[in-house]
Amino acid sequence: MKADEAYQCGKCGLCLSACPVYRVMREETTTPRAKVHLIRSFAENRLPATDRMQAKLQCCLMCGTCTAMCPGGVSHDTLFMRMRSQMAIDRGQSKEVKALGAILPKENRLRMAAKAARIGTSSLAQRIIGKMRIGNIPMENFPTPNRTPFRDQVPEVIEPEGKVVGTVAYFTGCATHHIFEQTGHAVVKVLRRMGYRILLPADQGCCGLPLFFHGEIRRARENILTNIRSLSAHDCDAVLTDCATCGSALGHMYPRLMAELDLPAGDADALAATVMDAGEFVATHMDLLTPHLSPAATRETVTYHLPCHLKNHGSGKTLLESLLTHLPHADYHRTPDWDACCGGGGFFFNEYPDIAKRMVDGKIANALASGARTWATGCPGCRVQLAGNLPRKGVIEVCHPLEVVARGLR
Ligand code: SF4
Ligand code: SF4
Repeated sequence: MKADEAYQCGKCGLCLSACPVYRVMREETTTPRAKVHLIRSFAENRLPATDRMQAKLQCCLMCGTCTAMCPGGVSHDTLFMRMRSQMAIDRGQSKEVKALGAILPKENRLRMAAKAARIGTSSLAQRIIGKMRIGNIPMENFPTPNRTPFRDQVPEVIEPEGKVVGTVAYFTGCATHHIFEQTGHAVVKVLRRMGYRILLPADQGCCGLPLFFHGEIRRARENILTNIRSLSAHDCDAVLTDCATCGSALGHMYPRLMAELDLPAGDADALAATVMDAGEFVATHMDLLTPHLSPAATRETVTYHLPCHLKNHGSGKTLLESLLTHLPHADYHRTPDWDACCGGGGFFFNEYPDIAKRMVDGKIANALASGARTWATGCPGCRVQLAGNLPRKGVIEVCHPLEVVARGLR
């Protein structure tokens, strides 16, 4: 297995305190540094792929924090992904990832899965399975999927309300398309009011990140190529995502994956240069938004959770905070751990529930202590983890930042 990147580690240890897993576990074997050196030993045939090694390598949220701050330029995410791929070949894949590999690449299967999940959240089903848990999250705390997928509810081209100031393509990801339709409607409402024409390419699919982060790089190939083709086909100012993880895939991982798939990187690079988080895009165009906002008699109290993928692959750590701070209908309260990992991490909350719980409990306590009634975050995975672990369902509303913005439009 190719592991060139591992040789760039100078063992400085700077990644230790940044790693959310190490911050909970406090064991050297859980650090990014240790993972890098395990992979190096494996690549040099000095260590076999054992259960123990697999467990050490998989205890990771793939948050990208170690890569973002490593002075040696180690690309942990590429190394971890490649190693997971090798492990899947040598030792087989988990049944959960196999199921994902069957569902995510096909839109018709995703639709069926969303329908089944919708039945699972009906009141009758909840009486039967409501107290069951996935990780630490009771089934009754999972969101109800959309009755109709979001992109079926809106046209492929949406004109702005006033003068056209530009055109954006909107990549909705699976979460908005199948679960959080309210986020999609809020994104559209805000962008239209700002003067943007919105394109929603019909043939976009899952970004593939849940697959390639679990080592299923080749299974994600068709999704990656389809998304690059479909999002590059339009002349627009930016490609916007409302999901930090999709943004990380399109804007950061796709160019790296081209090498893994033996493909030229040109189109992926060009797409990545145009990708931006929808909330950050709005925050950088406040002049177009501000005239449409009105103060409220009772201001909404809001706090914010910064998703790791936005922190590490976004345009600026405090952009979303500055947006929330400037809303005349909201009072923003920062919590001390606003930028700390929540422990969601794809399936991490299910695979390592005890560690994930220790990550999220402090954040929930701080969010509740802030007095906020709304907890904004731009990642559906974080949203499920934060809302799912609340002491009482709905004690604080967890939603996308642009839903907060949309509520303040005149
Ligand atoms: S920060 Fe980078 S160079 Fe330093 S120990 Fe971690 S992986 Fe190695
Ligand atoms: S990706 Fe995140 S959780 Fe995984 S080793 Fe790096 S910092 Fe730790």
